[in-house]
Amino acid sequence: MKITPNKILYINLGPDNKWRKDCIYTDNTIRLGHIEVSHQLCLECKSKNKWSEVEEELKKYFTKNKVVKRCKQISNFYVSDENTLWITIFEKKLWWCFANTDITERSDSTKERTVIGRWSCNNILGEPLELEYLNEKIQKSRLPPAIYEFKHPQEILEAINTREYQKIKNNFLEDYPELKNEIEEVLIKRIKRVQQIVLKIKNKYNNCCQFENCGFRFMKNNGGFYSEAHHLNLLSHEGSQDENNVVILCPNHHRMLHYAQVEPIQDKENNKRLVKINGKDYFIIYK
Ligand SMILES: [Zn+2]
Ligand SMILES: [Zn+2]
Repeated sequence: MKITPNKILYINLGPDNKWRKDCIYTDNTIRLGHIEVSHQLCLECKSKNKWSEVEEELKKYFTKNKVVKRCKQISNFYVSDENTLWITIFEKKLWWCFANTDITERSDSTKERTVIGRWSCNNILGEPLELEYLNEKIQKSRLPPAIYEFKHPQEILEAINTREYQKIKNNFLEDYPELKNEIEEVLIKRIKRVQQIVLKIKNKYNNCCQFENCGFRFMKNNGGFYSEAHHLNLLSHEGSQDENNVVILCPNHHRMLHYAQVEPIQDKENNKRLVKINGKDYFIIYK
C-alpha cells in the first residue's frame, strides 16, 4: 500500500543515537529526551496549543536560540498526528514508521510514543531501503537535532513507495490485464509475491535475455543489471508463477512478445522452447 503522510520528520533516537537499537528492534517506539521539561507540562501546553511555558522552562537551561529549537522539537513530538511519517537512518538503511498519538513518560523522564505496526526498512514492495542506493539527498541528510522537518519529502516518498512501482505495476498488468480492477492492496500483495519469484529467476539468468543468441542486459545507475520478466501463459491461473512460465528478457524481445504476431507458445523440449514470431523461429533457452 502506498504511504501518503502529511508531514515527514527525521528523528535521531537518543544522544548519539544510543536508543536506536532499542526503539527499532525491541521497544517499537519513537523516543525523545529533553528531560529538563516535564511530561505533565508538555501535555498541558499541548492541550492549550501554546508552548510558552515550555519555553520558559527551557530558558533556565539554554540560550535563546536553543530554546526556540528545542521547544519546536518537543512540540513536534507531542503534536504530530498518526499521519506523520517518522524516519531515521540505522545500519546503513532508511527506517520509517508512523506512531500512535499517546505519549508516555519513562522512568528516566524521556518521552515515548509507540509505533503503529513496526519500524520498517523496506519499500512497499518489500525490498530493503539500502542507503547506498537511495537519492543523495537522503544519504546526506543527517543533522544533529533530535527532530527536524525533513527537507526532501519527495525523495523519501519515492524511495518508500518505489519509483519503479508504477512501472512494475504496468508491466504486471500487461501480462495479467484481468487483474486491472483488483483493489490496490491486493494487487500489491500479488505483485510482491510475483516479484520475489521473478527476482529469483532473474538471478538465475544473471539478468540476461533468454532468447537464443541474445543474452542482452545493461547496467543500471545503481550498479544492478536491468532485465524484464514476461509471463508466457498470460491468462493462466495462480499456479503459473513458476520458472517455466516466467522468462527473463531484454526490452526488445519482451516488446516483440507483446506486440508482434506470436503463435501459440510450444512446450519446452531439451531446455529449449520454440516461439514463432512474425513467422520466424526463435528459441528461449533454459538453464
Ligand atoms: Zn510481458
Ligand atoms: Zn533479447
